[in-house]
Amino acid sequence: MSIQIVEVSKRFGHFQALNTLNLNIATGEFVAILGPSGCGKTTLLRMLAGFEQPTAGEIHMNQTLVASASFNLPPEKRRIGMVFQAFALWPHMNVTEHVRFPIRHHKETPAAIREKEQERITNVLQMVGLSKHSTRMPHELSGGQKQRVAIARAIAAEPSLLLMDEPLSSLDAMLRMDMRKEIQSIHRQTGTAIVYVTHDQGEALAMADRIIVMKDGHIEQVGTPQDIYLRPQTEFVAQFVSKANLVRGNWNHDQFTPLYTDGRIQWEGSQVADYFKACGKYPVRPDQFQLSASHVPGISGKVTNVQFQGKEFHYHIETEDGVWEISSPQPFQLHSTVSLNLLRDDLT
Ligand code: ATP
Repeated sequence: MSIQIVEVSKRFGHFQALNTLNLNIATGEFVAILGPSGCGKTTLLRMLAGFEQPTAGEIHMNQTLVASASFNLPPEKRRIGMVFQAFALWPHMNVTEHVRFPIRHHKETPAAIREKEQERITNVLQMVGLSKHSTRMPHELSGGQKQRVAIARAIAAEPSLLLMDEPLSSLDAMLRMDMRKEIQSIHRQTGTAIVYVTHDQGEALAMADRIIVMKDGHIEQVGTPQDIYLRPQTEFVAQFVSKANLVRGNWNHDQFTPLYTDGRIQWEGSQVADYFKACGKYPVRPDQFQLSASHVPGISGKVTNVQFQGKEFHYHIETEDGVWEISSPQPFQLHSTVSLNLLRDDLT
């Protein structure tokens, strides 16, 4: 299913939750909506589902109007599956019954699936790795298994669009990593378009074909994970997604000279967005700095905090331009003075 969101706004009373959004989602695409709490992610998802109606603008699915200020196609007529943060399982139904329910009761279930109900249940349980637990009740399942049931239920009737709202946020860190793989694999196997809401940039970067970064009800940037991570267009995206430090200095075309250096340091920045060039900043990710001993020319800084993280150290380094967060495999002592430069063989 392809989706066209055209000039869509949503007000709750006087509060403007979404402001003139425009977005196209291609058939089978995996799109992550990423942004901080309150930016409007869930509101957008609920409009795609049909639970909320736009105050202005139009939503089309497969070139057919499904929502405007004067019309709203109800959720049960949209062929969508939904997975929420809270698993929302039915306590009196076992795993198989959860999967069977939408096949039997969704109005839009394709006839081919309805006719081969048991085969579909078997396939879906296999897809989510629950074949051995088909008769278990929700209270007999772990958190990860419960979320798999919720996903199985959502994909059972073969939706054209799968909406996921922070589906992994109630799982522990290890399980979240496993479930990322599961969701990617389900996406590959079903070919269903997925719109996935999260405030976790790691999740969005890891899974999505495209990321929509939202802030205060509007879209800040749309792009592939690489675009968003390596080539942020705004300060918000640079800081929210890449945890970038905004180093101040002077731009001369694509060459950047940081402040508080003797003027000999030049960083190449052909990939840096014009916005940063106009305001004399260079967004440098924590892993993009080269740390050296203090005699090496660069920006001078003092290590004010060190955390050992296994393969690297996380530093807080105080410079004349502010305190920066930097990660590096090179060991430096707390309170030592270091010299900072841009890594030369960086991906950018
Ligand atoms: P979170 O990550 O915390 O879930 P979000 O980005 O999903 O946040 P939304 O739930 O879409 O944010 O809410 C966007 C804004 O709209 C918030 O300021 C919220 O308080 C407001 N809002 C959402 N639903 C309603 C409602 N029914 N009535 C009034 N305001 C609402």
